[in-house]
Amino acid sequence: MTANYHTHTARCRHAVGSDEEYVLAAMDAGITTLGFSDHCPYVGFDGDYYSSYRMYCDDLKDYCESITELREKYRGKIDILLGLETEYYPALFPALLDFLRPYGIQYMILGQHYLDDDQHGTWTRWVKTEDELIKYADQCCEALRTGVFSYIAHPDIVGYDRETPEFTREMRRIARCAKELGLPVEINLLGITSGRDYPCTQFLEAAAAEGCTAIIGRDAHTPHAFYETDALEKAIKMAESAGLRITDKADFHKLENYYKKL
Ligand SMILES: [Zn+2]
Ligand SMILES: [Zn+2]
Repeated sequence: MTANYHTHTARCRHAVGSDEEYVLAAMDAGITTLGFSDHCPYVGFDGDYYSSYRMYCDDLKDYCESITELREKYRGKIDILLGLETEYYPALFPALLDFLRPYGIQYMILGQHYLDDDQHGTWTRWVKTEDELIKYADQCCEALRTGVFSYIAHPDIVGYDRETPEFTREMRRIARCAKELGLPVEINLLGITSGRDYPCTQFLEAAAAEGCTAIIGRDAHTPHAFYETDALEKAIKMAESAGLRITDKADFHKLENYYKKL
């Protein structure tokens, strides 16, 4: 794996290290393509609510400038892409796309951390009922069909019992949607290093059954994430035993091209 498209920065307030430290660690670990995808700022919440885990709108300019400067500084040594990890909140999404337009962001990955939105909805790790599970899958599929996301991060982040038939059914529905749209699904390394219940075999097998390809995403919240070779090996083994083909290719200019066509 010489590419990683899931990299955070300290602007989200739960990641550490300077932007340049991520670049240096990635190069040291043999990464040749590094995509930054910090938690997207969001607009349109009610009142003065603001999410605790994403960059502020005012940080976006600095983020874009910093990543662009690093791209120039390390040109020829490592390819650096400018992206965001973004939830799809249907009611707020059109205004978000308008807000992001001037910034030259190349790509977005979908990270659906909440149902509805984080002000009014349920954290996806707390999803317990089948209705909520279905809603999660619906929201992910609707997001992918907007055509602006390059892949879906941790599709199996949803906190529902893995051993149930409905979990497999809904994971297959997400995987089928990704496959139809030609998008890979992510195997998330932070889930492994944090000992969470994702990536899970049930999802990887569902994705393999639907003919998906998978991208390994480090979901780096510290530069040290690039040195987690055990987690990487485990992810590769999990994909192999599920029969899921790993790629590092996807269209990482989808958002950029969406704006060009407007
Ligand atoms: Zn995060
Ligand atoms: Zn992430």
